[in-house]
Amino acid sequence: MELETKYEKNYSHLVSLMEQQDGSYDFDLVRRAFELCVNAHKGQYRKSKEEFYFHPYSVAKIIVGLGMDTESIAAALLHDVVEDTDTTIDQIKSMFGEDVALIVDGVTKIGRIQFVSREQQQAESLRKMLIAMGKDIRVIIIKLADRLHNMRTIDSLPDQKQRDKALETIEVYAPIAHRLGIRPIKDELEDLAIKHLDPIAYHEIEGLLSSKQDFRESTFKSIRARIEERLLKDMPGVEFVLQARVKSIPGIYRKMFIQGKDFDEIYDVYALRIITNTVNDCYNVLGIMHDMFRPIPNRFKDYVSTPKPNMYQSLHTTVIGREAVPFEIQIRTFDMHHTAEFGIAAHWKYKEGITTNNKQMEDRLAWIRQILENDVDSSDLIRSIKIDLSQEDVFAVTPKGDVINLPVGSTVIDFAFAIHSAVGVRMIGAKVDGKIVQINHVIKTGEVIEILTTNAAGHGPSRDWLNIAVTSSAKAKIRSWFKKERREENIETGKTALETELRRNSVVLPEKEMKDFLEEIARKQKQPSVEELYASIGYGGILLEKLIPRIKEDYAKLLKSAEKPSIEEYIKKHIVRSPEGVVIEGIDNCLVKLSKCCAPLPGDDIIGFITRGHGVSVHKRDCVNVPVKIAEASEPDRWIKAYWADSVEQSFTSTLHIDALDRDGLLAEVTNVLFNMRVGLHAVNARAVKGGHCAITVTVSAASVEHLRSIIEKLTKLSGVFSVERTNQ
Ligand code: MN
Repeated sequence: MELETKYEKNYSHLVSLMEQQDGSYDFDLVRRAFELCVNAHKGQYRKSKEEFYFHPYSVAKIIVGLGMDTESIAAALLHDVVEDTDTTIDQIKSMFGEDVALIVDGVTKIGRIQFVSREQQQAESLRKMLIAMGKDIRVIIIKLADRLHNMRTIDSLPDQKQRDKALETIEVYAPIAHRLGIRPIKDELEDLAIKHLDPIAYHEIEGLLSSKQDFRESTFKSIRARIEERLLKDMPGVEFVLQARVKSIPGIYRKMFIQGKDFDEIYDVYALRIITNTVNDCYNVLGIMHDMFRPIPNRFKDYVSTPKPNMYQSLHTTVIGREAVPFEIQIRTFDMHHTAEFGIAAHWKYKEGITTNNKQMEDRLAWIRQILENDVDSSDLIRSIKIDLSQEDVFAVTPKGDVINLPVGSTVIDFAFAIHSAVGVRMIGAKVDGKIVQINHVIKTGEVIEILTTNAAGHGPSRDWLNIAVTSSAKAKIRSWFKKERREENIETGKTALETELRRNSVVLPEKEMKDFLEEIARKQKQPSVEELYASIGYGGILLEKLIPRIKEDYAKLLKSAEKPSIEEYIKKHIVRSPEGVVIEGIDNCLVKLSKCCAPLPGDDIIGFITRGHGVSVHKRDCVNVPVKIAEASEPDRWIKAYWADSVEQSFTSTLHIDALDRDGLLAEVTNVLFNMRVGLHAVNARAVKGGHCAITVTVSAASVEHLRSIIEKLTKLSGVFSVERTNQ
């Protein structure tokens, strides 16, 4: 098939690139893929106004540059055909075979997931998912090349889009490229990302590098010459290549702006690379280098005996030469160099003609896994790569692009509850990649899952879900839903159980006090209400055998605080009135007489003196017989405070509780006793109680405690009265 000249020119260029590689290709297949790419995308343009086909063509060139095989090149050319044109996967399968179709399908599926990297967690899940999705690792490599070309042409996007893409590139794609050891793609992705994320710092580093360029070039020219001369002399006949390299801008950026180093403190800005034939040669070269230059302590790293997890191997050492410029020397074999440059992609270069069946693909993944697991270095990187390739997780995506990570075997129910329990309990079904599935559908990595929900009342999980769900969190959420739904029942059960226990333990209180008491218990159990307390007891959230001892303790405290004070304490707190119209503080039942020397009158300031055998004599405060300073008197303890009764507002009222046989005339007799004793009567209440008794409550005001005692005595003597008690009022 003939193509327009401009396309033919592009095709020839692609072929020439392939010919520069040392692989063998199926040029016919690549040609047909190129033709389909051009024709299918005909009339489509990119944001940059370029013809669309130029994008897959550019991706294919990157893939060729990595030394990838025919299928990869064809798949790169066709990677957007299914998504953006009428061509179907089945057509690709019949035209180019199953292998190409599977790769295109994988790239298409990854591309359908629209991500904005929001946070590190999301980026990490995304990385894991992408790697898990690339059952054939070529899918990931093409996806990386796709992203690389999109980053190269990112300037045609709006600013915010540029930053989003750049962030996603540095958080998700560059780390994948790094882990797969594909250095040129990783470096360029990082470089383009930082250029757009932090252009000021990027240009600052560019400036620093170019300002020292002349010095660097002259210095390294002489160093290089000396090394070359020495190696030729000491290792005759050994092949070697010398390369000078400058650390990448992202590498310098990391050290300057993340590790906070000064540009001049970065020892490996400049590096010389010596590539030779054998591992033995490498160590010999190292010896010579340490002889020529002074090695900086702790800067030697042997990645030959211990390769990095991404398969990188080299000897690294940092030395200082006569020019006092520290620089890094990297020593490796040609094989190691190839792996260092292309990582996993190098695999296809050396293992041509791999037949295409699932067994082979499995083997490839196993091979990667093996390399990763054999590594002894226990850096975070290894752990994360092991997780990347772990078989225990699946990754699925919400329609909004959130990646949900679940254990293998998880169902759409687990997925729904992993989003939110509110989604789970309202779930009525699920769509996977747009199609309705059974509720027990087992999730596969890369599926886009939409949970269908309802707001209809009375809807909820079914009990079978407990058997279908795999994750413990989904199961717990389903159980807790049932717990809530059966709330009424739980409250009833809890209430009955608690009441039974309280009775058994003789925790008895009047209704009102019991209510307060239970509210206090609920509060202490961190329950918002007594009802919640019942409900918690009902479903076993609060265990009665643990709760009851605490309740008993609280009950004992409550009783103690409610105990009546002793009568002596009561007296101390109250002022006692003598029959003489004078109040003597703290003394009851004593003879009080007004002294003749000063004859105090009501209203006078007075003081009492406890005489020997004649009670208290009351004097005016300014009487000559009263010491001016009581504290300096010979017997200060005998002087005591006194007031005129009228000036004392407090009255001595008491409530008496009479327990008696319920008989006619009893109440009349009680009031008669009180009347005869000149007691002020404020309230009377009588009611019949159980067992033929009656309870009479009287509130009286008595002249003194003694007076009160005699009242009690009189009442107790009435026929049918069992007891008379003063209540605490
Ligand atoms: Mn693309």
